[in-house]
Amino acid sequence: MTTTLAIANQKGGVAKTTTVASLGAALAEAGHKVLLVDLDPQACLTFSLGIDPEDLDASVHHVLTKGLDAREVIIETEDGVDLLPATIELARAEADLLTRTGREQVLKGVLEDLAEAGEAYDWVLLDCPPSLGVLTVAALTAARGVLVPLQCETLSHRGVGQLLDTVHDVRRFTNRRLEVWGVLPTLYDGRTNHARKVLDTISEVYELDVFEPPIPKTIKFAEAPAAGRSILATSRTSKGAAAYREVAGKLVERAAR
Ligand code: ADP
Ligand code: MG
Repeated sequence: MTTTLAIANQKGGVAKTTTVASLGAALAEAGHKVLLVDLDPQACLTFSLGIDPEDLDASVHHVLTKGLDAREVIIETEDGVDLLPATIELARAEADLLTRTGREQVLKGVLEDLAEAGEAYDWVLLDCPPSLGVLTVAALTAARGVLVPLQCETLSHRGVGQLLDTVHDVRRFTNRRLEVWGVLPTLYDGRTNHARKVLDTISEVYELDVFEPPIPKTIKFAEAPAAGRSILATSRTSKGAAAYREVAGKLVERAAR
């Protein structure tokens, strides 16, 4: 059984991509077969896993809009996860898909085709772009759950209501089984009371589960993408890597529920 999880928040810089790369590596480390899907035209996930998008002939864009078999595009990475990479061409996908019937279902169909072709992934993690456009809706339509990374320092909760409205619409129109698994506090500075308060407010106001431990803010994360590996490889014993491993374990528990 594959568990497909969308990592979504329309705000940029809240560690969606870092979370996808790190949780993916943690799940792979624990023996799961993992596929990561880069749905952001900025291709940060692709780049951070050591692949230069400029070197690619085909990407998730061709799979979503031109019917190319995903197996022809998927790359094995050094982190032990498979990647369906993005290139800047994906920026056109929103426009290309906008007039298509069934555009919300397009990614779901791609993942079903992969499963039918015998690619038995345990986990598929979807790295959403910083918007609530066609690609994010397609991700939510393909997913069983959504995890919302949240930076606790700012007024980050303002966008959460809007995201939950979108989830609500997706549930009504394209994916009844979608569940909000919870928020993951990221870039967390435990030394400030403020972070803790923001977190408490969010879980109360929106009645959302909060995954623990929060992912600490550490310079190690800034270094990993340049190395083309996730923090689990570049900084194996760091607190950040340990936090992601622990959260990955909780996701496995949640999936079994
Ligand atoms: P998003 O995908 O939501 O835009 P990213 O994962 O690209 O966010 O992260 C934004 C920036 O924050 C990146 O430069 C990343 O290296 C950095 N970052 C992510 N998580 C942490 C962390 N726990 N501590 C320090 N920096 C982090
Ligand atoms: Mg990103």
